[in-house]
Amino acid sequence: MKIRDIYKNKKTVFSCEVFPPKPGAKKEGILQTIKDLKLISPDFISVTYGAAGETKEGTIEIATRIKKTYKMEPLMHLTCIENKKKDIEKILNNISQKGIQNILTLRGDIPVDRKFKSTASDFSHASDLTAYIKTRTDKFCLGVAGYPEGHPEAYSIEKDIKNLIKKIQAGASFIITQMFFKNDFFYLYLDKLREMEISVPVSAGIMPVFKAKLLSKMINLSHATIPSRLISLIEKYGDNESEMEKAGIEFAVGQIEDLIDHGVEGIHLFTMNRSSLARKISSYSNLR
Ligand SMILES: Cc1cc2nc3c(=O)[nH]c(=O)nc-3n(C[C@H](O)[C@H](O)[C@H](O)COP(=O)(O)OP(=O)(O)OC[C@H]3O[C@@H](n4cnc5c(N)ncnc54)[C@H](O)[C@@H]3O)c2cc1C
Repeated sequence: MKIRDIYKNKKTVFSCEVFPPKPGAKKEGILQTIKDLKLISPDFISVTYGAAGETKEGTIEIATRIKKTYKMEPLMHLTCIENKKKDIEKILNNISQKGIQNILTLRGDIPVDRKFKSTASDFSHASDLTAYIKTRTDKFCLGVAGYPEGHPEAYSIEKDIKNLIKKIQAGASFIITQMFFKNDFFYLYLDKLREMEISVPVSAGIMPVFKAKLLSKMINLSHATIPSRLISLIEKYGDNESEMEKAGIEFAVGQIEDLIDHGVEGIHLFTMNRSSLARKISSYSNLR
């Protein structure tokens, strides 16, 4: 099923994000996670694509398992930063045969730990990948990333939204946002998108902070602002794993309930492959 049709039929679309194992690593853990996630019936499960395609095979395999073995809808992430058109063409042919119908088209982060050759890619931005796929075939429903606090490389949030418009004009049907911990950023962002006539559905990216150590990693990745209440929770419970998890779940549930009250079109949960966390959050927040 195409994800754009799920948004048409649901008031609040609920999705979960997982990551595939590294090449050569065992798959049992992630397969159990997916089996467990099925118990909370997410509308779709997205599978990340490792930096510069290092998990390409794993991403495709896990997305295929979600579809064929577990009978749920996968959303396969695909980055273009180090891909040529012929590489993308091969991937599209492969996943189309496997029944994958939904792709999150991304640029990917520019590698900082090794030399990056921009000539290794036929694409500069996610909008180029979106346009390329759309001109090749209409088999796929495409989603793109949005940044409620602005993308870290963007000159301003307005410029970033103008670039988001290019992705929508290229054929994207929905947006999934970067994580944020203050809902006001999301509401302001949504207002700006609607003012700028972006009318496609937007899912809010929610990351439960279940470990204090994760926070600095998350800030580095997302540049999200951490509200003082979350900082206090980490100061209070940071050394106690089970209390920190409880507090992190409670914080995420509070965010989700407020978003649902404001009529959000979708909640996208970054599960970090922890199905128990996703199950608790979905039951406490009446997502299911
Ligand atoms: C929900 C979500 C899932 C993600 N999943 C993955 C994943 O699986 N694997 C992974 O490696 N990364 C993933 N990322 C991270 C993402 O790859 C990075 O944030 C990356 O830096 C930007 O990707 P993008 O697709 O948003 O790029 P783009 O849309 O290309 O934007 C990148 C920057 O360029 C600017 N820009 C965009 N288009 C133009 C244009 N035409 N002209 C000039 N400037 C432009 C934008 O304003 C922005 O500052 C994910 C991010 C999100 C929010």
